[in-house]
Amino acid sequence: MRTFDRGIYKTSKEALKAVFGYDSFRPGQESVINAVLEGRDILAVMPTGAGKSLCYQVPAMLLSGITLVISPLISLMQDQVNALNEAGVNAAFINSSLSEKVINETFKNAVNGYYKILYVAPERLMSEVFISFAKSVEISMITVDESHCISQWGQDFRPSYMDIAEFINILGKRPIISAFTATATQNVREDIICSLGLSDPYFLVTGFDRENLFFQVDKPQNKERFILDYIERHRGESGIIYCATRKNVDSLYTLLRKQNISVARYHAGMSNEERKQMQDDFVFDYTSIVIATNAFGMGIDKSNVRFVIHYNMPSSMENYYQEAGRAGRDGLNSECILLFSPQDIIINRFLLEHKDFSDIDPIDAMTIRDRDIKRLQIMEGYCYTTECLRNYILKYFGEDPKKPCDDCGNCLRQFETLDMTDEAKKIINCIYESRGRYGKNIIMDTVLGAKTARLAEIGASKYKSYGVLESSNKNLLRRLIEELLLAGYITTGEYQVLKLGDISRLKNTDTKVMVKITDEDKVTNRKLKPKKNINGMDSLTSAGFKLFDKLKELRLEIARAEKIPPYIVFNDKTLIDMCAKMPTTKSDMLNVSGIGENKYSKYGERFIEVIKGYQL
Ligand code: ADP
Ligand code: MG
Repeated sequence: MRTFDRGIYKTSKEALKAVFGYDSFRPGQESVINAVLEGRDILAVMPTGAGKSLCYQVPAMLLSGITLVISPLISLMQDQVNALNEAGVNAAFINSSLSEKVINETFKNAVNGYYKILYVAPERLMSEVFISFAKSVEISMITVDESHCISQWGQDFRPSYMDIAEFINILGKRPIISAFTATATQNVREDIICSLGLSDPYFLVTGFDRENLFFQVDKPQNKERFILDYIERHRGESGIIYCATRKNVDSLYTLLRKQNISVARYHAGMSNEERKQMQDDFVFDYTSIVIATNAFGMGIDKSNVRFVIHYNMPSSMENYYQEAGRAGRDGLNSECILLFSPQDIIINRFLLEHKDFSDIDPIDAMTIRDRDIKRLQIMEGYCYTTECLRNYILKYFGEDPKKPCDDCGNCLRQFETLDMTDEAKKIINCIYESRGRYGKNIIMDTVLGAKTARLAEIGASKYKSYGVLESSNKNLLRRLIEELLLAGYITTGEYQVLKLGDISRLKNTDTKVMVKITDEDKVTNRKLKPKKNINGMDSLTSAGFKLFDKLKELRLEIARAEKIPPYIVFNDKTLIDMCAKMPTTKSDMLNVSGIGENKYSKYGERFIEVIKGYQL
């Protein structure tokens, strides 16, 4: 391994280029780095994939001592240390996956000043060995990654994160403390500042938009068919398919295996070894697709995930954005598709109603239940809205987008807008007349005048509303009811029954109920539309594609030999940039995004060879 002399880089820009091979910082990175270099504490809230790691890795190389990074998961640490070592930065981790002997060796190296960055699991901090080690070296900065784990408000609460403040107090000299998270809520932020004892921190929240992600909600008749078609159209691309239950994971897995699709699966019902194997298969690109429950993903920094499909609706926007956000970390265009069916709402409601609160104080339980129901409603709204999906997400996270994105499933869909004020009033009358006891289906059947056994049983034909909309159809009425729910004219109670909401506005004759009709057949073919091109595959000609495949082969060969994931060698974006620039000299190669000095000396010539061979 090569060692960099301390202080070899004068500026953070220089380190960014020489080590990581990047020309410019992403939004927010530079301001955080500058604040660290001024000696300030940091709290940075940046979405998944925004590039938080560089915010502490770059200054770590410019500070005189060592930077300790506290990180919650073994796989995260391994990944980061691999990537740093590949870039020529001496870094290591200390966690339970290592033997005593290796740990001692690591401490020794660290005391000798060999590492610039040392990752450590929070459980280790308060151990005697670690404390005595920490007191014997110059610690310039302590970075707390995934710092929301300190908050009991979040879902990832990790008790040992609470030790961090005490650990810092024990140290003779207080280092700079920098905390990073993608969780945006106010409570969590306050917890982080307070529990870590950050002093007048530089506070950064970057925009939550991920420009390279395409969002879409689909309501296919047959989800399995949809998935098969999708995979067919995206052969060879890496993707995650999230399912709500283990059963769904298993049956989809079996289906895809039968079609000879290379696929892994992951859920809590599998053994640890099996899960580890499946995860590695995916991360190392042995399989391109993984089907998983939400147990999968924390700790996966795989940068070339091209799509994340949700087979079922998740229970909150927080979960959705985090899971979907695992697509496109390398900045290339990637798709986030949610497959929705009304059944998903029923399942989620059922799970909420049967959640076990026996260990929790009844008042807390009530607060949590209310919060969960609200979150679920927000998620339902996402599935039903006909407005810009990206804006729906951003508004939820507190932003105020000014115009539709023109690049999500809804923005690209052609809608027809119908005035359905009359129909709306008839639906509302029917709910009123039946005293809010029935769900969507019975209400629709009643106004349509259907002749079903269930309607006969409840005596629906006696209602004045019976058959008042007999010339309408179920799809239209379903859309109308979704719209009425979104507008708050009606609400849902227990067991999904429809109840009247605030209808006062409707009494005003100027108020119209406009409904956008979604016609799946009218979806414009996204592939044919010009997309925002973010250094994407779009820039490749067909010749370029062939070279891209060749470079991928070489990357895979190197990754197998070095036993690291392919994206740690070079990510897709770097390979695409190579195809576009066709570098044949060292200086050309260093101009490619993602190639620093160290990577060039390790792999540069082999890639140049392939490129030259290709030019002949
Ligand atoms: P986060 O921790 O915020 O989810 P990461 O630190 O894992 O995100 O970074 C995501 C990806 O973005 C990585 O592949 C990283 O190499 C890349 N990246 C980070 N900063 C830059 C930059 N300034 N230019 C180009 N790529 C970057
Ligand atoms: Mg990260």
